[in-house]
Amino acid sequence: MYESTRGNLSGQSASQAIALGMVPSGGLFVPATFPTLDWQELRGLAYREVAKRVMMPYLTDFSESTLDEIISIYSEKTFDGPNPAPLVSVGNFGVLELWHGPTSAFKDMALQVLPDLLKVSLKQIDLDAEVLILVATSGDTGKAALEGFKNREGMHIVVFYPDGGVSHVQERQMTTTEGANTHVMAVKGNFDQCQAAVKKMFASESLKARLWEKRLVFSSANSINWGRLLPQIVYYFWAYLQAVEQGKVNPGAAVNVVVPTGNFGNLLAAYYAKRMGLPIAKIVCASNKNNVLANFFATGEYQSQRDFFQTISPSMDILVSSNFERFLYEMSGRNADSIKEWYNPKNQGSFKVDPLTLQNCQDVVYAGWADEEETLATIARSFKMYRYVFDPHTAVGVKVYEDYYAESRDQRFTIIASTASPFKFAPSVLIGLEGIPEKPRDEWQALEDLSRLTGWPIPSGLQSLDKKKARRVELYSAAGIEEALLKLFA
Ligand SMILES: *Cc1c(COP(=O)(O)O)cnc(C)c1O
Repeated sequence: MYESTRGNLSGQSASQAIALGMVPSGGLFVPATFPTLDWQELRGLAYREVAKRVMMPYLTDFSESTLDEIISIYSEKTFDGPNPAPLVSVGNFGVLELWHGPTSAFKDMALQVLPDLLKVSLKQIDLDAEVLILVATSGDTGKAALEGFKNREGMHIVVFYPDGGVSHVQERQMTTTEGANTHVMAVKGNFDQCQAAVKKMFASESLKARLWEKRLVFSSANSINWGRLLPQIVYYFWAYLQAVEQGKVNPGAAVNVVVPTGNFGNLLAAYYAKRMGLPIAKIVCASNKNNVLANFFATGEYQSQRDFFQTISPSMDILVSSNFERFLYEMSGRNADSIKEWYNPKNQGSFKVDPLTLQNCQDVVYAGWADEEETLATIARSFKMYRYVFDPHTAVGVKVYEDYYAESRDQRFTIIASTASPFKFAPSVLIGLEGIPEKPRDEWQALEDLSRLTGWPIPSGLQSLDKKKARRVELYSAAGIEEALLKLFA
């Protein structure tokens, strides 16, 4: 059963949690308890079998055969190769490549599954309506969600991205999506403003009423949806199993996990895996120049009223880290009153936690951040040392891990969650590898150049993207998207 982080709802089934996305009166759904799972029992299983064992205890209102069908997506057809998330040895750490799905970022790992989880959930709660998925994206979620939901019966998806806040490749990926039920809109402002505008629509009773007249209900594909988080727990078990298999860790020994972080969904999944009994020691939270989380772990003060920076790791350009609320819920000893107080809108996204909660946070997580220069230098250094190219998000993780290691001399085997293919951010990666070019490089040329330099093939989803037909995207002000949405479904 699922309950709200703010104490205003409990005893909800998985279907209800997934169908609703977030608690209607505010708060996020969390499992009432964490089932334990012995990783030893998973040895030798294929990814989808591991997925089944991890997800089943959380989906008590789903039948086994339904879940079997849902996770059959983790096949060679959807992910390139039989292993959807290979653990690759780089230097003395393991890189968990989470970007072998159709859109070359880790979001596919969950967004290929979410539409089916949602479809079944809606059926189970007997809702006689079609679903309207709204997504605010800093770049990667948008395309992964469009791919996951395109041409799904009874479902419509509208993706909102900050104008100029995503890379050309990301934008092009979104605007070339096929499917009669997919829509893309650009919004003036940065990602936080875009996300706030979308959240406002979710909360608008009048908008909900008007859409209900058309038999449409909202749902969310953002990582606040439990159906997004759950599939992400799986790959931490998978990573550990591979590390044991490869002889990198002694069976049962704890590993560290490094997560390039934005909305805190990926990191939270690692923490949930730990709670389920997976031997994880430290979780390293890596931020870019938008270092609100690193500051929090140092001081206990979450201060989101600050300058926003557009960086070369745009999917981490986030100041309001949505899933952090779920983490604080656990760290405060599930104190819904504290959560309600901290997240009271009158605080405008800034609050300070009590010393005990902060101590608990610091025990679980080491947090750090890397600026742009450090990120580029890490890409260059890693390529020189290991002939391995990190994308800018993962490079932030590598740098923060190096800082952690220098401070702690922690010898444990460490797994770095690699969140995107370097090809998705080729121009920035090439600046790291070769310096700033004399004239700005064309994004498409950059893909070819990176392929030539590394000998790595361009991921199939990014090939000939520049030649595909793109749809025209309208630009709206944050205040104007509600009307645009209504017009779309008039
Ligand atoms: C979304 C994303 C992140 C941040 O993940 P969260 O779960 O939001 O913390 C990091 N890197 C890449 C490439 C992403 O697409």
